Amino acid sequence: MNPAVKSFYRVYRPQNFDAVGGQEFVTKTLANQIATNKIGHAYLFCGTRGTGKTTVAKIFARAVNCEHFHDGKVCGQCAWCKSPNQNMDIFEIDAASNNGVDAVRDLVDSVKYPPVVGRYKVYIIDEVHMFSGSAFNALLKTLEEPPAHVIFILATTEPHKLLPTVQSRCLRFNFQNVALPDIIKVVQGVFKKEKLTADDAALTAIAKEGRGSVRDALSFADTVAAYCAGEPITVAKINQIVGGVDATVFARLVQQITAHDAAGVRKTVADIFAVATGADRLLTGVLDAIKDAYVTTPTPQLANTLKLFANLEPTLKYATDPHGYFETAALVACGAN
Ligand SMILES: [Zn+2]
Repeated sequence: MNPAVKSFYRVYRPQNFDAVGGQEFVTKTLANQIATNKIGHAYLFCGTRGTGKTTVAKIFARAVNCEHFHDGKVCGQCAWCKSPNQNMDIFEIDAASNNGVDAVRDLVDSVKYPPVVGRYKVYIIDEVHMFSGSAFNALLKTLEEPPAHVIFILATTEPHKLLPTVQSRCLRFNFQNVALPDIIKVVQGVFKKEKLTADDAALTAIAKEGRGSVRDALSFADTVAAYCAGEPITVAKINQIVGGVDATVFARLVQQITAHDAAGVRKTVADIFAVATGADRLLTGVLDAIKDAYVTTPTPQLANTLKLFANLEPTLKYATDPHGYFETAALVACGAN
């Protein structure tokens, strides 16, 4: 298989609640509701992009229709689980591209017809905050008294944009940004299935690029896998993709600062800017190196250096000459005692 032509996120989208990374509270509560038959008719899934809202909505839609849902999993054997026509009862609407009142009127109209295959018709509305005011008004009454065979799952990255009347009609679940170890686990699982080799440092570097989103981490993993083309995945190769600087280069810079070696500092800063892209990655790299040095030998100079670079963040983000600012901070630190 050519890793460049498929997306890990789509291929390995979790099919059961327990396979969803980092949202245990949400998935356990939903599984319990199905198991105890205490299902709501309108849910609101809130959280930043790539945290699994749509994935969990799809799992819930299948789980709630399974005749023998057990232990957090669908049975895989019942008429529903075996049906090729599940999409006749599960509807996914993207409010960003269908935000007008007509789309909602069609939806409201279809709600009254019973499900075709399963027990429930599930309407998943992505980015629901994009609905126009009149579209929301058209939805409100149905949301208030949906037919017994209908479940709405409204997903949004911006819940504050929803009318209180909409919020109050829904059971709300907040999806958390996914913690780094959970993202690492997901990436590791995908690489294992793909028979790709990556060391721990590389896995961590890929997971960090997700910044709390499994989807973003896996999209980046797609790029890395394509770039490495079957060769072992390493931090050095990842750095080539993202314009990252190897940790040893930052460690060298900190050593030169400590040794008051101004010429060395200038040279290393030039090396860093020859490859570096992105102020945040640059600062994280240098701050990590200073922190590592401080832990081994805490000195006032290192404490000052840490402050100097930490204060540089807002400047570096918008500076037209980040190299100049970065070099000045390094030289000031170099001259300090
Ligand atoms: Zn089933």
